[in-house]
Amino acid sequence: MKTGQIRIHETGGPDKLIWDQQTLGTPGAGEALVRQTAVGLNFIDTYYRSGLYKAPLPSGIGSEGAGEILAVGEGVEGLTVGDRVAYASGPLGAYAEARVMPARVLVKLPPAIDERTAAAMMLQGTTVEYLIRRLYPVQAGQTVLLHAAAGGVGLIAAQWLRHLGVTVIGTAGGPEKAAIARAHGCTHVIDYRHEDVARKVRELTGGEGVPVVYDGVGRDTFVGSLDSLARRGLMVSFGNASGAVEPFAPAMLSARGSLFVTRPTLFDYIATRAELEASAQALFDVVASGAVRINIGQTYALRDAAQAHRDLEARKTTGATVLLP
Ligand code: NDP
Repeated sequence: MKTGQIRIHETGGPDKLIWDQQTLGTPGAGEALVRQTAVGLNFIDTYYRSGLYKAPLPSGIGSEGAGEILAVGEGVEGLTVGDRVAYASGPLGAYAEARVMPARVLVKLPPAIDERTAAAMMLQGTTVEYLIRRLYPVQAGQTVLLHAAAGGVGLIAAQWLRHLGVTVIGTAGGPEKAAIARAHGCTHVIDYRHEDVARKVRELTGGEGVPVVYDGVGRDTFVGSLDSLARRGLMVSFGNASGAVEPFAPAMLSARGSLFVTRPTLFDYIATRAELEASAQALFDVVASGAVRINIGQTYALRDAAQAHRDLEARKTTGATVLLP
């Protein structure tokens, strides 16, 4: 079958996202052919497009999608034609109407989760799952700092943390985003375009600081995040929305109270099939229960992915963004 897709032939701005047609073969051993009904947009897609993260070119782009299985290759177990599935990893190439891909990254969707919701949450939601339950298992009663709280990862994290009994200090750019973050679980929101984050965090925590900071913003917030931590606190630097963090001296950690820093990626937390299934199941449960609502702030036609990238990078989006094939 023929499929429309977006690929990059060279790195650069959103205009490097090129629509073309590809003929798909039948799935080989361990593969499945998926007709996609929704594709998730993630900040990581902009890193591959810009060249901050490297992919051999030309390359497909996108890591997350949902749809229906049209065919499976030899040796695929547990999945059959007609199953509704979603994924948050595997080879780049999610920006496509249909694709042949490794079946091992596909997760079957329960009836309670529709495909658009799945495409909006699989990557960001499994990220939140590992950040707050496994990387640093938060405890009820703690207060944590969460940057970009009105974003895709942010809105899921704020709700899930609140559900676990954690007080969330969020950051957001501007009053509208601050209101959205507050409505999704943040007890306090700092407008980090105008306020000094570390000073505000100290004020809110009686001078003590927070035990953990979740920082997906990167370059612009890194030092302020360290300054917001309590003694022996953990800095989770998990993204680069404002650019990559500059090299830093380990002495910065001792000077601020024997801090820890980690720079994790989702793929190391859903590396095995068991980890992927457990992470996805925890996400499905918390969404099906209503404790976490998936907020699709905007949708675009898949062909208009360039505009979606422009808006994401211009900080115009809130919550999750879905591209529709
Ligand atoms: P978001 O929807 O959160 O969008 C990024 C947000 O970052 C913006 O909306 C903006 O919010 C904020 N921001 C602050 N400074 C800038 C800037 N200079 N340019 C653009 N945005 C800025 O994106 P995602 O939810 O897709 O991802 C959030 C972060 O998490 C990203 O860094 C991403 O790479 C990372 N991530 C990491 C994973 C991992 O395992 N390591 C997995 C998944 C995501 P505001 O206007 O409120 O400041």
